[in-house]
Amino acid sequence: MAAAEERRIVIFHGVGEPGRVLEPGESRYWLGVDRFRAALDRIAAHPDRQRLSITFDDGNDSDLLIAAPELLRRGLQAEFFVLSGRTGQAGSLDAGQIRELMQMGMRIGSHGVAHSDWSGLSTPELQRELATSKEALEAICGVPVSSAAIPFGRYNAAVLRALKGAGYAVAYSSDGGSAAPAAFLHPRTSLRRDTTDSILENILSGTMPPWKRLRRFAGMTVRAWF
Ligand SMILES: [Zn+2]
Repeated sequence: MAAAEERRIVIFHGVGEPGRVLEPGESRYWLGVDRFRAALDRIAAHPDRQRLSITFDDGNDSDLLIAAPELLRRGLQAEFFVLSGRTGQAGSLDAGQIRELMQMGMRIGSHGVAHSDWSGLSTPELQRELATSKEALEAICGVPVSSAAIPFGRYNAAVLRALKGAGYAVAYSSDGGSAAPAAFLHPRTSLRRDTTDSILENILSGTMPPWKRLRRFAGMTVRAWF
């Protein structure tokens, strides 16, 4: 795999004011509108733009109300991973809004039903979660839904096996780094409220700051030992 073919994939979550009660620890993933616009400006103007992909998780209604128009204004497109169990609830996309995103040229994938930790579900629970969300979103979209973003980035071999078994062709994690187009699992990097411009530049250009390289090396060493 030539490194030149690898992609960097960013994850956005909510933008602006949440229209629902947030989960514990979730607020750090919500960006103010100005910060969101500035991040999109950087992506649109980036020399590696052709190798950058944009995703949104959780199916917040800010996907359509705020994010999509800002994307179109910059000639950008994105894939939106929706929670089928929240569809139509306050603060989340409803079926018509999901279809509106598609009409704007955006793609729709599954984030599961209820934002649960897939690595903690039993096999039957996981199979139900993956099949139910796929069917519900396909009924809304009218096209096959074959990509999934793993909630909280938590997965194991059983999760990947279940995703393939449920008919998903691509899965997205939150592991950071670059993604090989032919791989089943595509790592992504979250943009958070505390993501500075220099960290964002590292994410977009695929360069890892030394402290993170060190930490990753240490992490690998620990895993290899234990
Ligand atoms: Zn999520």
